[in-house]
Amino acid sequence: MTNEWKPDTALVHGGTARTPHGETSEALYLNSGFTYPSAEAAEARFAADDPGFVYSRFANPTVRMFEERMIALDGAGDARATGTGMAAVHGALMSRLSVGDHVVAARALFGSSLYILNKLLPRFGVRVTLVDGSDLDAWRRAAKGGADVFFLESPTNPTMEVVDIAAVADIAHRAGAVLVVDNVFATPLKQRPFELGADVVLYSATKHIDGQGRCLGGIILGDKKYVSGPLHDYLKHTGPSLSPFNAWVLLKGLETLSLRVERHQANAAAIAAALHGKAGVKRVLYPGHDSHPQYDIASKQMSGGGPMLAVEMAGGKPAAFAFCDALKLMLISNNLGDAKTLICHPATTTHKSLTDEQRAELGISGGLLRISAGLEDGADLVADVQGALAALPS
Ligand SMILES: *Cc1c(COP(=O)(O)O)cnc(C)c1O
Repeated sequence: MTNEWKPDTALVHGGTARTPHGETSEALYLNSGFTYPSAEAAEARFAADDPGFVYSRFANPTVRMFEERMIALDGAGDARATGTGMAAVHGALMSRLSVGDHVVAARALFGSSLYILNKLLPRFGVRVTLVDGSDLDAWRRAAKGGADVFFLESPTNPTMEVVDIAAVADIAHRAGAVLVVDNVFATPLKQRPFELGADVVLYSATKHIDGQGRCLGGIILGDKKYVSGPLHDYLKHTGPSLSPFNAWVLLKGLETLSLRVERHQANAAAIAAALHGKAGVKRVLYPGHDSHPQYDIASKQMSGGGPMLAVEMAGGKPAAFAFCDALKLMLISNNLGDAKTLICHPATTTHKSLTDEQRAELGISGGLLRISAGLEDGADLVADVQGALAALPS
């Protein structure tokens, strides 16, 4: 049934498993273990003859409802939730890589994902090649000698670069690799990577899926064979589990995701328009604005520009700081995907641990600011932008 629902219906009803009490809101199973009516029943459960629950490290009814709702939304074969988005990135990679394997990834990635690729995987004999994600020939060249996993984010953090997911999926598959997409910046509603050829899609549910800054969570979606096989075993035995309480919060978040993402996106577009072409603004990077360098690809693979944007101030770091400090409504925060509009200076916060050369290569200049549009009235946000622009030193 679930698969026939449109996304907005799946977000409200998908995965719901009611108890005999008939509760409307999903039940919260805040338990670690389960009991069995007999030794024979326990034996059957462990022999997997009986599909019931065994231990919340690897399956819990509330967590399963969250997974099932995401499966219904994304059109995946199966899914496993994790305690954080980083546990999802780590799990998606470690569950399939072995010594001697080769990962090709776009270099514009979330900071901690870069740590896993640059520092962690090489310690275990995994070769990692980072490429300019927008350069299809670079992906092809990197995969020439063979590759096992392709990994990308689109749009990227924090420079809002757009990668042609369908084209990269094709290159990955020709090289015998699977494509893993971190779809956080687009949200599951504005970009559907499975339809573009991705094999695995993952999210930090901490961001727009919760959407109200309350808890951490993550999820990995893929085909049934991979998810119930190597991924399940990896997560079961290493234990980066999502708490049932957080799964319940995320289920509530999903119910309003569609309404919220429309407002986030409208506000992002309004902020981009208020900044574009103004004195003191070098460039606005919003995939929904026709000034974006990959606007054509964004229009093809996203339904709208999404909830995130970046702006580069002409006066470098001093201007970026002056702009932030003059804002009255937007909050300075390294987080994103909140009801509140959040602004961040990546060079001195989220991407501080990179070298100057790495930042330059990624386009993370001193003047760059990343904005996560919230749910406020767009007119108030535009007024905030105008006030802060007027306060810039000339
Ligand atoms: C936040 C984020 C992550 C990490 O998620 P956590 O829930 O903070 O662990 C990974 N990728 C992207 C694109 C993110 O924005």
